Amino acid sequence: MENLENSIREVAEKLLSEKKVDLIIGYERGTLPLRTTPCFVDKVEDIQKLVWNASCDANLSKYVVGRKEKVGVVAKGCDARLIAVCIIEKQFPRENVVIIGVPCLGVIDRKKIEMELGDREVLEAIVEDEQIKVKGEGFELVLPKKDFLCDSCLTCKHRNPPIYDVFVGEKVPEITEANEFADVSSLESKSAEERWEHFKEELSKCIRCYACRNVCPLCYCKMCFVDQTMPAWFGKTNDLADTMIYHIVRAFHVAGRCVDCGACSRACPMDINLRELMKKTEKIMKERYGYEAGVSLEKVPPLGEFKMEDPQEFIK
Ligand code: SF4
Ligand code: SF4
Ligand code: SF4
Repeated sequence: MENLENSIREVAEKLLSEKKVDLIIGYERGTLPLRTTPCFVDKVEDIQKLVWNASCDANLSKYVVGRKEKVGVVAKGCDARLIAVCIIEKQFPRENVVIIGVPCLGVIDRKKIEMELGDREVLEAIVEDEQIKVKGEGFELVLPKKDFLCDSCLTCKHRNPPIYDVFVGEKVPEITEANEFADVSSLESKSAEERWEHFKEELSKCIRCYACRNVCPLCYCKMCFVDQTMPAWFGKTNDLADTMIYHIVRAFHVAGRCVDCGACSRACPMDINLRELMKKTEKIMKERYGYEAGVSLEKVPPLGEFKMEDPQEFIK
């Protein structure tokens, strides 16, 4: 990890000092254990702020959208894929971004650690290769890292960024054997009525805070339909019908574009299983259109294009 961190700093310094980019977007240490925060470096003397570790979970592609300057972005597999989707969707020109690809062994899910520790607060944490050492008042524990990774990372097929300009470090082996859609099989075994009941139950916990929208690099609309008042598409309450509309429309908006970065599930304060719905849409897109988001800069997401010979009347 330390080597990767140094290599990221070296690449970032070279890009900035050679004026290939105006800004580097990476991670810096957070104020709490097991946290990092996005970091924006535009001076070589600030390069040492950049860190790399298993808490670098924010999807940095979110911070590229709308920028006019040339940026270098530290990108795990899922970040690079979302950068690719945003380039295809013309959110910034390809030449404005230098993708600093970093191999990724997964990021830690702090919620899993909180579940394990209950009321005990982590005051210090060190992540080593396969272990997370946590300390707090009156306790000290060594946790196996593999049990505390984000669910998305357990079956991720693109731990190495598929698209990059500079690659830092050595490529890591991809996970080939895991079934990436295993988590939707229980949903699929249900009848349509049971699925509807399941979603009603899950989404009734939603408080409409929109953290899942705000954290998602794909939710870049200047005016989201949920905030519109003229026309108002639906109510602002957390009445279940309104909440369901939000989630159904958002699922359609990200269908075929979502890369399962896990950011929305991590951000949800109500622990709603958003991944299940997103993963199901991803599976449908793969089966029906053979489409996988963010692995190429050529193919537009299936719901983002049309052909004149499409059979639906509204196309004509
Ligand atoms: S989804 Fe893949 S690339 Fe993204 S953090 Fe997890 S393992 Fe890394
Ligand atoms: S919908 Fe969630 S998992 Fe998918 S790209 Fe957006 S934040 Fe990531
Ligand atoms: S983050 Fe969770 S609670 Fe907030 S709007 Fe999204 S699903 Fe609802």
